Amino acid sequence: MARTANLPPTSPTPRVQVRRLIAGFSAVFGLACLVILAALFNIAGTLDQQERQRSAFHANQALEQRLLASRQFLSSYAVWDAAFEHLAGQADWQWAYEQKNIGESLYSASGYEGVFVLENERTTYALFKGQPSQASASTYIDAPLQPIIDQARAAAIPREQITRFVLFNGWPAVLSAAAVRPDREVTDSDVAHAPVMLFVDQLTEDKLAVLGSGAGLTGMHVEKDQTKAHDHLRIELGDTGYHLAWSSPLPGRQMLRAVLPALAAALLILGLIMLYLFHHALRSSRAMGMTLTHLQQSNQALEASEQRFRAVAESASDWIWETDREQRLTYLSQRFANVTGYSVDDWLGHPLNQLLACDTTPLSPWLDALGTADPQQLANLRCSYRDQNGQNRYCRISARAIFHHGDPMGYRGTASDITDEVDAHARIQHLSLHDPLTGLANRNKLARHLEQALLRGSDSPPLTLLLLDLDNFKPINDSLGHGAGDAVLQEVATRLRDTTREGDLVARLGGDEFVLVLNGMDNRNEVDRFCARLIGLLQQPIDFDSQHLHIGASVGVAQTRTQGFDAGELIRCADIALYQAKADGKGTWRYFAAEMNQQIQYRRQLENDLRRALRNQEFELHYQPRYRLSDLRIVAVEALLRWQHPQEGLLGPDTFIPLAEQSDIIVALGRWVLREACHTAHDWPADIVVSVNLSPAQFLRSDVVADVREILLETAFPAQRLELEITENVMLNDIEGALGTMLSLKELGVRLNMDDFGTGYSSLGYLRTYPFDSIKIDKRFISGLGSNSGSDRAVVQAIISLGEAMGLTVTAEGVESEQQLKALEKDRCHEVQGYYLSRPLDGPGVEALLHHTPQITARPL
Ligand code: C2E
Ligand code: CA
Ligand code: CA
Repeated sequence: MARTANLPPTSPTPRVQVRRLIAGFSAVFGLACLVILAALFNIAGTLDQQERQRSAFHANQALEQRLLASRQFLSSYAVWDAAFEHLAGQADWQWAYEQKNIGESLYSASGYEGVFVLENERTTYALFKGQPSQASASTYIDAPLQPIIDQARAAAIPREQITRFVLFNGWPAVLSAAAVRPDREVTDSDVAHAPVMLFVDQLTEDKLAVLGSGAGLTGMHVEKDQTKAHDHLRIELGDTGYHLAWSSPLPGRQMLRAVLPALAAALLILGLIMLYLFHHALRSSRAMGMTLTHLQQSNQALEASEQRFRAVAESASDWIWETDREQRLTYLSQRFANVTGYSVDDWLGHPLNQLLACDTTPLSPWLDALGTADPQQLANLRCSYRDQNGQNRYCRISARAIFHHGDPMGYRGTASDITDEVDAHARIQHLSLHDPLTGLANRNKLARHLEQALLRGSDSPPLTLLLLDLDNFKPINDSLGHGAGDAVLQEVATRLRDTTREGDLVARLGGDEFVLVLNGMDNRNEVDRFCARLIGLLQQPIDFDSQHLHIGASVGVAQTRTQGFDAGELIRCADIALYQAKADGKGTWRYFAAEMNQQIQYRRQLENDLRRALRNQEFELHYQPRYRLSDLRIVAVEALLRWQHPQEGLLGPDTFIPLAEQSDIIVALGRWVLREACHTAHDWPADIVVSVNLSPAQFLRSDVVADVREILLETAFPAQRLELEITENVMLNDIEGALGTMLSLKELGVRLNMDDFGTGYSSLGYLRTYPFDSIKIDKRFISGLGSNSGSDRAVVQAIISLGEAMGLTVTAEGVESEQQLKALEKDRCHEVQGYYLSRPLDGPGVEALLHHTPQITARPL
């Protein structure tokens, strides 16, 4: 994809650029104009200056010429023997004026306004504008005359004359003075008193005009000094206060006058043209700017879209591909390398189907089909490939044919990596069919498996289904926490997997229930061996947190051979068999048998009834007193549970306790008994202990310590008056746990009595370690006391002496005869209990017994 040039965002807009250009250009133009003008003015100035200098020179020349001419003219009159002759002393007017030697023509022809002859202070001859005048020269001439006379006389010897600028009749004039002398060599004394002739040439306008034109100058005139006109050249006219001025032609100024308007016009036109051009440039720059902005924007848009494209192409898992007509790769986007690990060059030129494969549709014909399809058609296909690491990956190909003049030229499309999606899908699928905790198949998978296995009905190969339930799982979970429970379940799963063969299925139905589907195993012996091995394996302790956890398992077995090929029915039958196995003492297995149905139905019914009975308060307690053998006084009363069944009447505990123990009902029932006993015994004489039987199931399924504590507080019953009867079966499953519980119970202050002593497995050994206060010899041994002489009595005697040795109170229960009582008395048993002394009584009965005959001893029946 060709990249388009991008303008940096910081560059000024074209309009600004053009503006700057115009400003620069205008400045240069203005400067150029100024330079031209300056040069022009400079030239003009120089020209003018030169012209002024020239004119001044000419003016000077002209003036000098006039002065010279005037002197020379005067000289012809002054150096004249006749004049000397006629003017010395008294002027000879006759000769001078009448004979026109120095006459009127000096004014009319030569232009001298004043002609004077002075003999020292005296004016001897005077003509004013050609006419004789009696006025002295000083009347007309505004200047000291003696210095002029002296200088003129001094200049006489070398035949020279002097000229001065003076005011004549108030107007500037050239005064020429010369001493009148004879035309011979003279001495100082000859001229010391010689008359001085003055010719005054007033600088009138007419004369100046002639003078100026003669010098090529115009406007020559005199001005008073105060009228200042510096630009005009001038020649000072002595001390007259006037100067000679003229107007110089000033070619520079003329030139300027001639050139400037044209130049200005030209510059103006140029300026206007420039203005127009600038304006145009600005407008087009604006347009260009807009175009550029537009271009820039579209550039940016293009760039942005390209970036977006790249971002999408690079960030998404998609890569883009193109092939030629033969489906050989001609283009791969960079993303391809990132996703697949291959370099783009590795694959360019190779056929697409060499890279990708689809398991349902061959890629190549699929692409071919696009070439003949609607050009707009976009098709998707899921493909897989191996990336550079050899990992299997999935992608979704979308493809479209590239047409040129209606012919397919190749193919183009994207490939979205959907490996994660496929994996996730697989995970979900796995999760939907497997138990997340153990990884075993779940109920769904079991259903599918059975469906598959039983597909052909009675033609399907036979199979055996085992429904397995863990014994003792719940207490572990309750007391040690879910971590322990989970560990147990996982270990069980492992062991179950290890026992099964390929083709078998192990599933967890939830909780501690598992199903094993044994494929092809049909023979009973074989199944028996398998079950025995399985149960044995599960009875091996499970290590958790440095503890050995003991569990077991009960198994119900159903087989297609006998129960048929219906999955649901198989599970139901296995369930009933399992129920039976548990009822038969756990840790065993039972095959489904038709008669179980009824029995189980009954039991299920009973279970429901029990729950209902608890709600309806159909339970009651009977109390059987316990007597001290020495004086046969009542020391304790044992609470014994009864069920006032609405149909069956009063039921003894043996009919329902074992059933209650198989479920949580025992917990609620046990709590009720404890509360009821404490509550009832509360008002009994303070020295009477109340004895409550605890089921081992209560130890396993609930927190007995907490329950007892709570009920003692609730009923405000003194702990030392409560005795708990526990059979040694409690210790069977979890010796250490049971010990801990018992120690905790003792810490509450209650008494502990070991019930049914002698029926357990290894009772004697435990006595030392467990905190019992008393032991109760099981009634089996007592019943034997009277009849057969030997062994039972020996056992009873041994138990009594053991209890004695360990400081325990020993009670004998089931005392039904005086004979038995006597024997026990003889054997120094501490306490007795039995029908012979008192049957269990209802509440009011025992109360009456305790309150009304408190001192009453046994009332043997
Ligand atoms: P147990 O703890 O050994 O209670 C003594 C049983 O022997 C009682 O039976 C009692 O009625 C009976 N009995 C008393 N004196 C004699 C006698 O002289 N001869 C004969 N043959 N029997 C006598 P019961 O009340 O049917 O209780 C049976 C068992 O049920 C009890 O045996 C006890 O283990 C259990 N049980 C009773 N009440 C409760 C209870 O509240 N909770 C629990 N967990 N178990 C209970
Ligand atoms: Ca008992
Ligand atoms: Ca007993």
